[in-house]
Amino acid sequence: MITPDHIQHESEETEERQVARLLIVDDEEIMREFLKEVLGEEGYSIDLACSGREAVDKMQVDQYDVIITDIVMPELDGLGVVAAAKRLPYEVAVVVMTGYASMETAVESMKLGASDYITKPFNIDQIRIIVSNALEARVLRKRAAEGEFYKELSRKDGLTELYNHRFFHQLLDTEVSRAERYGRVVSLLMIDIDDFKRYNDTHGHPAGDLILRRLARLLKRSSRNCDFVARYGGEEFAVIVPEVKPDSARRMAERVRNLIDESDFEGEEALPGGRLTISVGVATFPAQAESKRELLEHADQALYQAKAAGKNRVAVYGEEGVH
Ligand code: GH3
Ligand code: MG
Ligand code: MG
Repeated sequence: MITPDHIQHESEETEERQVARLLIVDDEEIMREFLKEVLGEEGYSIDLACSGREAVDKMQVDQYDVIITDIVMPELDGLGVVAAAKRLPYEVAVVVMTGYASMETAVESMKLGASDYITKPFNIDQIRIIVSNALEARVLRKRAAEGEFYKELSRKDGLTELYNHRFFHQLLDTEVSRAERYGRVVSLLMIDIDDFKRYNDTHGHPAGDLILRRLARLLKRSSRNCDFVARYGGEEFAVIVPEVKPDSARRMAERVRNLIDESDFEGEEALPGGRLTISVGVATFPAQAESKRELLEHADQALYQAKAAGKNRVAVYGEEGVH
């Protein structure tokens, strides 16, 4: 991960001196009290809210550094809390707490702007680390405007070091506008791991994270320098391939699919077919899409088609009944 020593050092000297303020949101009293005790011992100042509604009221009045919220709560849930926190006029890191069963919601909350999530049950050390990382990430983000290094950092996904979701959208905007202006083409590959939930369920989330990192490296290695590889979502990746027409895009997708299929992954025997595989959806601007939005939609529809047709395959928008 990209956290050079000097940054950690500086942040300790400046912002970390003040007492960080935490808001803990959970409808279960026992969880609120547990977190209050554990994190209080770390020297943070702690506030509690027993519902999403109360949390939203509190964050309007007081300014927090980190909000730790349960996902499943009646009325206003954790996603609502994340959304409300992102609308605040100040920057606050939000960490969501979830059971393995609601992992999809955790991923959803990250898309909404949560900075991290933790799965229940967790131990004291895990929550300590998550909170201190969230505080640190917040400091780094604050400085993102200060220089190129920080700018690059703000573009990268922390786990895979690929471009993150937000920067991917900027890149795609730029590339489609460029293609439009100069009469060029640009292709998009949407990639999703097959049966990844099964992998996590069998080997645990940390093992799943290692797979995501390895896959990211393989994707980088199998693309050209001028391509942009991004982590689109939890276990979804996207590759922007400038100057590549539908036929070549299909060949590239097929090459990547094959590489992943042939590579050995730790623990992959737990998966259907005994191998870790990916499905890929492909679309090209302007042949198969007239705008950035359509390009995304059509690549995504092709991906859906690849899944429906049995996974571990490539589907190109507009072909073989993909529309
Ligand atoms: P499909 O073949 O249809 O894509 O099935 P799937 O199980 O891969 O898809 P599904 O969308 O049901 O589940 C995606 C899983 O990806 C759920 C979640 O456990 C896992 N996942 C998402 N983000 C992360 C992450 O950051 N780390 C880990 N370890 N797992 C993640
Ligand atoms: Mg999947
Ligand atoms: Mg998925």
